Amino acid sequence: MSRLFAGTPFDIPPKCDDCGQLESECICSAAEKAAAETLRAQQAARLPPDQQTARISVQKRKGGRTATVIEGLSATANDLPELLGRLQAACGTGGTTKPKQDLIELQGDHAEQVQTTLAEIGFRTKPSRR
Ligand SMILES: [Zn+2]
Repeated sequence: MSRLFAGTPFDIPPKCDDCGQLESECICSAAEKAAAETLRAQQAARLPPDQQTARISVQKRKGGRTATVIEGLSATANDLPELLGRLQAACGTGGTTKPKQDLIELQGDHAEQVQTTLAEIGFRTKPSRR
């Protein structure tokens, strides 16, 4: 099938979304294409923070340690590792993400700082009583 405006000044040849070159001169590898497609799907699944509610709880762990647990922010709607990085920096502690459980966990009791930081980003927050 020929394009509607083929051969006219209105004919804009299709360009690659990823490298910006003309399709005929695209330099992307199949792997790059697939990675870019995955990234676009991820971005499309993201939700703005103000449409999400984080539930924050402080939980006791073995040996008397405490952990601050953030639930309700899904791994598809958010970049959990990026979020973890911001929370770790704000709280000055270490932590981990559990994407399969849509969960972020920080070492120690940082419920207040977590609440403040998440609210600054724009998330709705509520304490989760256990
Ligand atoms: Zn390309």
